[in-house]
Amino acid sequence: MKDTFTHQGMRKKLVETLKKKGIVDKNVLQAIGKIPRHLFMDSGFVDHAYVDKAFPIAADQTISQPYTVARQTELLEVKKGDKILEIGTGSGYQAAVLLEMGATLFTIERQNELFKKTKLFLPKLGYKPKRLIFGDGYIGLEKEAPFDGIIVTAGAPFVPNPLLAQLKIGGKLVIPVGENVQIMTVFKRKSDTEFEKEEYGEFRFVPLLEDKN
Ligand code: SAH
Repeated sequence: MKDTFTHQGMRKKLVETLKKKGIVDKNVLQAIGKIPRHLFMDSGFVDHAYVDKAFPIAADQTISQPYTVARQTELLEVKKGDKILEIGTGSGYQAAVLLEMGATLFTIERQNELFKKTKLFLPKLGYKPKRLIFGDGYIGLEKEAPFDGIIVTAGAPFVPNPLLAQLKIGGKLVIPVGENVQIMTVFKRKSDTEFEKEEYGEFRFVPLLEDKN
């Protein structure tokens, strides 16, 4: 597993691209500048690691586009020590960004193949989620709730109620909602019963799936 000067140079350019596209959170940009994204992809795709595009990983899934990772993370407003739940571990790249920013991370993946692969891979780079779980993100993680933030990294056909219920007051759920195209939606919990909702434009994700395998 190599991270060369060439990779580092390409990452710097990617960070500049993300700045031009409007990402301002310095901690997000710093994390993306540091994490060797090429190591999260199959070797055949390494040349594409630092262009701003999504790419295939195992089990018909994708590693999200860097801009999407950056924008979602920025909307989550992660502070050091925040307790964060991620739905859709996938390659583990988004998880690495959250860990690099100092989050205490719980992450759930429903595909066993990806779960096993990423569970072995992340610690090799020094990234250690508090828990990496094989399970169904629609139900969240009741026994570790409440969370400062919940981030869903697959397209949700609707907003799962358990995820709203597992937010702290003041906490945020960042979730792309929709079937073919998703609207990036942020819910901020105001009280036990009140949530403020904001929308941040169109994105495209692989679907959040209900049936486990
Ligand atoms: N965060 C990932 C993005 C992976 S794509 C990354 O940085 O690479 C979305 C992921 O969500 C896929 O790995 C998919 O298997 C997973 N997923 C789909 N439905 C899910 C569900 N109901 N619960 C948990 N994970 C799910």
